[in-house]
Amino acid sequence: MSHRAVFLDRDDTLVVDSGYIDHPDRVVLMSGAREAVQRFRRAGFKVVVASNQSGVARGYFDEKRLALINQRVRDLLAADGEGLDAIYCCPFLDGPDAKVDAYRRDSDLRKPRPGMLLKAAREMDLDLTRSWMIGDALRDIEAGVAAGCRTILIEGNGSDTSNAEPQPTHRTRSILEAVMIVERESASESEAERTRSKSAPPEDIKLLTEIRDILDRQQRETMHDDFSIKRLIGTLVQMLALVSAGWGAYAMFGDDAGAAVTRFALAGFLQLVVVSLTLADRRG
Ligand SMILES: [Mg+2]
Repeated sequence: MSHRAVFLDRDDTLVVDSGYIDHPDRVVLMSGAREAVQRFRRAGFKVVVASNQSGVARGYFDEKRLALINQRVRDLLAADGEGLDAIYCCPFLDGPDAKVDAYRRDSDLRKPRPGMLLKAAREMDLDLTRSWMIGDALRDIEAGVAAGCRTILIEGNGSDTSNAEPQPTHRTRSILEAVMIVERESASESEAERTRSKSAPPEDIKLLTEIRDILDRQQRETMHDDFSIKRLIGTLVQMLALVSAGWGAYAMFGDDAGAAVTRFALAGFLQLVVVSLTLADRRG
């Protein structure tokens, strides 16, 4: 089964945004970020960062430096060696602010588009409909909604987003509040799943029950067919026995004793056949 994931924005969600972080030493975690990552992991989610890093296209730092910065983020968020499952970044930017030609482009990876989430889902076998996107900006929410995830907007910068489209599934003031929402909803989903699996028999049991019902039905139909054929034969033989007896009586009244004995014997024999058929029918 595909994994559930929590996608997290990086700057101002996990890491204090001090403006185009260009060195590992400038990485400072937001309050509660480390605890949040650990609790998402414990709740059974893959934890994936999806971050626009247009600083690469703007020429503030290169991808090698970005990798070092992200490694610092990973190290600070990890506990017992366990932390983020993956970091996806979009280094591209379209327009004149992109000073590095190689990175000047319109990219589906850049939020508010859902490219990074879709790519992660393909590469990590994630079920987006059971996943979350959490971030501090409306473009995070837009990307999450476009990918089919539930979303949480961490409001902190004071801007009014009440009329924004699309609306987030939830709004919070901190990442730990977001953790509580995800934990609460995944607990009630697990409970619903448990109830469903208790009330409904597993698929293989259902299949066996269906096969048994079909076999029972076929057996009953076969028995019914046998019974009808035996009864039909029995009735015919019974009629022949009666005809033979009548024919014997006719011979007797006609003083043909030899023919009468033969015909009565035939009638007796046929009657024995009828009795045998009846007994066989009852045993079957
Ligand atoms: Mg942000």
